[in-house]
Amino acid sequence: MLLHSLPFLVLVGLSVLAAPPAPTLTYFGRASVKVVTADSYVIYIDPYAPGDYSQPADLVLVTHGHGDHNKVGLVSLKPNGVVVAPVGAVPPANHRPVKEGDAFSIGPVQVRAVAAYNKNHRRAECVGYLLTVDKVKLYHAGDTSLVPEMAELAPLGVDYALFPTDGFYNMDGAEARRCADLVKARHALAIHSSPKEMYDAGRAALLQGPDVLPLAPGQTLAMAR
Ligand SMILES: [Zn+2]
Repeated sequence: MLLHSLPFLVLVGLSVLAAPPAPTLTYFGRASVKVVTADSYVIYIDPYAPGDYSQPADLVLVTHGHGDHNKVGLVSLKPNGVVVAPVGAVPPANHRPVKEGDAFSIGPVQVRAVAAYNKNHRRAECVGYLLTVDKVKLYHAGDTSLVPEMAELAPLGVDYALFPTDGFYNMDGAEARRCADLVKARHALAIHSSPKEMYDAGRAALLQGPDVLPLAPGQTLAMAR
């Protein structure tokens, strides 16, 4: 009797221990990230920093047309792959224009374009993105400083929020901290930590708090819910 029930117990034990499949976030540097869902739907945001772009994309999201965000040529698209970008941010062929306030689904992803602006970034030409992938909500702030519209994200239950921290084109880590307090994401992460380099550990470290996760170029994070 005991022997017969053992395989059952082992199976139950495994199913309890195995984590549910989670989408991954890989950081390349500057504002460039790759997101891969549990079903291998591949998304790149703001391709620019060197990294492994070998996986063809289902979706490429560009926040604005500055040269350190819009190198869509680094990415090869799958046959049905889509590039989403504000008007004028990438060459006009083969991309879907987006503006603040747009919300739509592509494949298994829900996309919402949100406000991103400061003295170096015109509001009409820039967006941030809120993505829902595998029920995980990821906010990529784009290039921005603190804007009051960030508070509108708080009720949405953002899981992971990426904030620029270079303190030159965008806000610094201390201001990003105030953004994190507005957005109230479970986890806040520093990107775009240098105006010149791909990454500046010192500036990134100025985003502090119990919700902050370290993120260095080349690192891949399983985005657990
Ligand atoms: Zn910019």
